[in-house]
Amino acid sequence: RNILHWFRSKDLRIHDNRGLNAAATFAKESHAPLLCAYLNCPAEFRNHGTSPARTDFICENLGLTKSELEDLDIPLVFLEASERADLVPTIVKFIRGNNISHVFANYEYEVDELRRDIRILEEVNNASSDSDSHCAGFHVSLHHDQTVMEPGTMLTGAGKPMKIFTPYHKAWLAEVKANPGLLDTVPPPSKNSPKAKKALQSFFGSQVPTPPEETQFSCEQERSQIRKLWPPGHHAAIQRLNEFLNDKLADYAVTRSNPAKNSTSRLSAYLSAGVISVREVLSEVRKHNSGSADFSSRGADAGLSGWVRELVFRELYRQTTMTTPHTAMNLPQNLKFDFVQWENDEEGYDRWENGTLGVPFVDAGMRQIKAEAYMHNRLRMNVSSYLYCNLLVDYRRGERYFAETLIDWDLNNNTQGWEPSYTVFNPVSQAEKNDPGGEYIRQWIPELRNVKGKAVFDPYHRLDKKEFDKLGYPEPYVDWHETKQRALERFKSNMKDA
Ligand code: FAD
Repeated sequence: RNILHWFRSKDLRIHDNRGLNAAATFAKESHAPLLCAYLNCPAEFRNHGTSPARTDFICENLGLTKSELEDLDIPLVFLEASERADLVPTIVKFIRGNNISHVFANYEYEVDELRRDIRILEEVNNASSDSDSHCAGFHVSLHHDQTVMEPGTMLTGAGKPMKIFTPYHKAWLAEVKANPGLLDTVPPPSKNSPKAKKALQSFFGSQVPTPPEETQFSCEQERSQIRKLWPPGHHAAIQRLNEFLNDKLADYAVTRSNPAKNSTSRLSAYLSAGVISVREVLSEVRKHNSGSADFSSRGADAGLSGWVRELVFRELYRQTTMTTPHTAMNLPQNLKFDFVQWENDEEGYDRWENGTLGVPFVDAGMRQIKAEAYMHNRLRMNVSSYLYCNLLVDYRRGERYFAETLIDWDLNNNTQGWEPSYTVFNPVSQAEKNDPGGEYIRQWIPELRNVKGKAVFDPYHRLDKKEFDKLGYPEPYVDWHETKQRALERFKSNMKDA
């Protein structure tokens, strides 16, 4: 009987893919043919509000994965479920109709995805407990692939899953140092035998899905610009990683917060679609640390340990989704924030989205995301704070807009990034500190390109009126100090009895 690896949109690679490797190993040991499938569901893209950039990136990576697999005589079959409710019946029908005995896949930690997998497991149980069933049974094997540390396994002294970053980070570093084998990667599958290839002949040549109409780019120019910034494929990811490690890692600790420096890896799109695994990334990092898996500030230089720290945030956030699943269901981790009465400020929201609030640092970030399907982390922090604190617009609108725009959208990182807090970022002092030359602002806001010196951070208050009016740049839509006060009072009063 045949062995199946079922790709999801977070493991689009053949290198160091835990589920695929387990499927291939099992197929080899049992002399069975290996085939792969991807279940395309346009409704899933619509429900998540997946951006054109991400949808296109997924489809492009699927195409490359398919040809890499075909070089190994392994077919990748594209199945279609138009609605979410069709997902399980579609895959089960495929499994049962094609003599598949074992199904392998990698875990996705979000609630709907886990529910989907539970339903598949129920199908397995139903088949095996129904003695009259004429359907052949099948086994399902799910693998942890997205992280180094399996979500849910990092526990406090009291045996509860860790939620706070600092102790999690410390424990993660100690664990990896003690067990460097955690970073080991697994190889891609070996070639199907000629006999297996022949048996699977009808599965080759399946059509790679195209993005559903509503998630397509508005024009060809936009598509080619985004593809140039984010070329698909494992090879592109490795190239980007090596460039980063060779040229930027050493300075990361000092340059990472300066958005003008382009000093971060820009690997997030590749990590979120699983085009490269975090273990492969960290194995390369280890080579730059003289082979040592001690990534603490004592065991590595500041740039290297600082960068690994960011990857550890990514690890923790997968544990967070598993242990506080309401964060994957449109609720804040701190449920008290669900009691905040938000403002229905449509104009404020539109200005935020279009980068016309009259606040240069925030506007620059919002223009970057529109143009590049990406925004620097420092800006993500600032624009999110401005939306839900200064405009008092429900943070979930911003969270959704990020999903609809970013190429690297990742539910775990995005919901945790958008988790509301009492910290109100001051976009003027943030810009002065992190973009001291004002280059980032001038890059994204042409109206301010010729503004000299520190006036670029706050032109309305720092230029005389006549000079300001000539710029064609809007006055600040709201006063930062007043709206900060309003937010803090609102949060305090709404959350008091929650
Ligand atoms: P680098 O600085 O090179 O970091 C390396 C990798 O570490 C990243 O690729 C990413 O996988 C991980 N990482 C870095 N910073 C964080 C972080 N703060 N939290 C979790 N992981 C991190 N990241 C996403 O991947 N998808 C999102 O949808 C997303 N939404 C965000 C929303 C908000 C409001 C905020 C504040 C942050 C969000 N982040 C998100 C985290 C972070 O901004 C991006 O991962 C980072 O900017 C990507 O750029 P990079 O690959 O050059 O990062």
